[in-house]
Amino acid sequence: MDRPEPGQSEKLTDIGTRRIFSDEHDLFRKNVRRFFQEEVMPYHDQWEIDGQVSREVWEKAGEAGLLGVSTPAEEGGIGSDILTSSIVWDEQGYSGASGPGWALHSDIVMPYICHYGTTEQKEKFLPAMTAGKKIGAIAMTEPGAGSDLQGIKTNAKKDGDGWILNGSKVFITNGHMADVVIVVAVTDPTAKSAARGISLFLVEEGMEGFKKGKKLKKLGLKAQVRFPSWQ
Ligand SMILES: Cc1cc2nc3c(=O)[nH]c(=O)nc-3n(C[C@H](O)[C@H](O)[C@H](O)COP(=O)(O)OP(=O)(O)OC[C@H]3O[C@@H](n4cnc5c(N)ncnc54)[C@H](O)[C@@H]3O)c2cc1C
Repeated sequence: MDRPEPGQSEKLTDIGTRRIFSDEHDLFRKNVRRFFQEEVMPYHDQWEIDGQVSREVWEKAGEAGLLGVSTPAEEGGIGSDILTSSIVWDEQGYSGASGPGWALHSDIVMPYICHYGTTEQKEKFLPAMTAGKKIGAIAMTEPGAGSDLQGIKTNAKKDGDGWILNGSKVFITNGHMADVVIVVAVTDPTAKSAARGISLFLVEEGMEGFKKGKKLKKLGLKAQVRFPSWQ
């Protein structure tokens, strides 16, 4: 077998291992590894002091093809597969960089927009997110509801053609830097089960009433502030 499994290789980080990957994946991995070594780690201490990573590194990651990797090209992504995305997750883990919230941005938020967004939302956000020019987040957790998501209090009420969203969220990855946030809110408090009365809203930076709270001091992941709240 010319691609050893991790247990058969000298180091977990050896390139050219695991049968699920190909030579093409290896080439991408080399570039991603170099990116974390050259563009991320030298700046990470400063980002921990700042409580966030730089906008610049998001755009550099976009230029290097590290964002929106498995989002289809026709939707504005790179159009690769989830294994290629997983190389970015792997390499971030190996580098020790806890600041960039790229997995959440690319592999949680972008799929929501891709699968459920309107054509207008997809065109507006997906290419810009692949380029690192717009940063995504998903806001589920609240000060009083984490594990039990059915207990959320944030709610949305129909108002003419639109909705009025009320509530606050906490521990949101990329929260302080986010330009686009998928917000979980109760839309039908009378639903038979709480899960059925919950909807997702796309909230954009600059929308009336959208406020980000102050940065909190945390025990770890110090270059990742997760504290927006809006009501
Ligand atoms: C690194 C990181 C990134 C995050 N990013 C995001 C994000 O991007 N978006 C977002 O919305 N949220 C995010 N969160 C928040 C995360 O989703 C919540 O922290 C998580 O859901 C747990 O909720 P909680 O902190 O309120 O803990 P709680 O729900 O209060 O739980 C506290 C403890 O009680 C236990 N517990 C809870 N319920 C029960 C039960 N019924 N029976 C027995 N034990 C129970 C739990 O296992 C846990 O040990 C993030 C959290 C972390 C740590």
